[in-house]
Formats: sequence, structure tokens, C-alpha cells
Amino acid sequence: MKLNRAMGPCWLGCRRERVPVKWFGPVRTRDGDGDMFACDACLATVERMVAEQLARRDADDLRSRSTARRAYL
Ligand SMILES: [Zn+2]
Repeated sequence: MKLNRAMGPCWLGCRRERVPVKWFGPVRTRDGDGDMFACDACLATVERMVAEQLARRDADDLRSRSTARRAYL
């Protein structure tokens, strides 16, 4: 991931117009590709949401493996 810093608008939740932002990732629209930038606070929120999603996914995997193992026995 590119982490170029710049001053500019946050494209995520806070919508502040002029804050330190980092490159967040590419965005694809029907008109073409662009670069998204977000502030540290919004990036931290996204990172926390991804960590929660990964934890739920891992828990689901463990549950399904446990169920499959019981069905096999
Ligand atoms: Zn923000």
C-alpha cells in the first residue's frame, strides 16, 4: 500500500476539507480509476472494522470446521 502523505480532503467519514491525509487505495468508478486519501482517524476506524471482520471470519471458519469434523465422526 502506498502511504503518501499530503494535506487535503478526507474522502471517508469525517469529510474534513484540509487535514493531513494518506493514500488509502485505488477506487474504480465507471469513469475510471482514482486514488483515495483519508485522515489518520478515519483510517484507524477502517482498520478496526477490518480487524473485527477478520476475527468474525476466523470464528466462522473454526465453527464450520468443528461442525464438519463432528459430522464426519
Ligand atoms: Zn477523515
